[in-house]
Amino acid sequence: MKIGWIGLGNMGIPMAGNLLAAGYEVKVWNRTPSKAEPLLAQGAALAGSLAELAECDIVFTMVSDDEAVKAVYTGPDGLLTSGARGTLAVDMSTVSPQTSRYLAEQCRQAGFRFLDAPVSGSVGPAKEGKLVIMVGGDESDYAQVKPLLDKLGKLALHLGPNGAGTSAKLAINLLLGITVQGAAETLLFARSMGIEAEQMLTIIRESAVGTPLIRGKEASILADNYPAAFALKHMAKDLRLARDEGVSTPLAESAAACYRAALEDGLGDLDVMAILRFLDRQ
Ligand code: NAP
Repeated sequence: MKIGWIGLGNMGIPMAGNLLAAGYEVKVWNRTPSKAEPLLAQGAALAGSLAELAECDIVFTMVSDDEAVKAVYTGPDGLLTSGARGTLAVDMSTVSPQTSRYLAEQCRQAGFRFLDAPVSGSVGPAKEGKLVIMVGGDESDYAQVKPLLDKLGKLALHLGPNGAGTSAKLAINLLLGITVQGAAETLLFARSMGIEAEQMLTIIRESAVGTPLIRGKEASILADNYPAAFALKHMAKDLRLARDEGVSTPLAESAAACYRAALEDGLGDLDVMAILRFLDRQ
């Protein structure tokens, strides 16, 4: 089976790496080709163009946002410009359900099949092959790709037609955004009363609200250093997409406004946990 992989950012590199490690033949493409180097060292081949990947049996895409996936699929030199022979395209990016349905239709017209299959879990779970994968599209296409999804994640769920995967992803990321902001506000409130971050993190860790998410951010918080695992700009995007889908509950509104303000304050390329730095400045 020939696999294509488009998008070698923080997530794409370890995910494609897991398919290589599992013994699959993987051809990769990235807008900035130099980022492919670690995967070429692992045995991947470099595609000269997006269209070249249409020859693969399955092509994964893992890029930033709606604009990026549209460029990759339907742009002037995009994947769909080539004649396909039933290639299955699997988009794992977090985009709007509307974009997933649009891409599914564009794929159908171009002779491709399409699944939306975004993931929950950041760079750590991506490296460990422990993502949670939410899939929308035909059940038979899901069955075809399931053995590969099992190399990328600890759980893959088929949720319904195209757009169902991205819908579920927007819902889980609402909880993610609220949880990260909640932890940040808790730490700042504690500090204002003389309880330092290290102590408060210990309390959170051992309490019922301690989560692997917050545990994974402890070192960053204590060092006040936020290299992006999940970039804040992507969180701001996901909450905007959730609002576009109609969520207008109090915490959703507040979190969307807060991450948007942090983005406008120049923190977009830092990790989502940098919301703490933003709130601290307020
Ligand atoms: P990232 O590190 O910012 O990488 C983004 C990728 O998209 C890069 O390969 C980039 O290419 C490519 N890209 C951006 N604009 C493009 C365009 N116009 N045309 C072609 N390629 C383009 O992002 P990431 O963290 O890997 O996340 C990828 C997706 O997964 C996002 O939708 C994100 O919301 C989602 N996600 C991320 C995490 C996480 O923890 N990081 C977790 C779950 C889901 P260049 O290298 O050329 O810039």
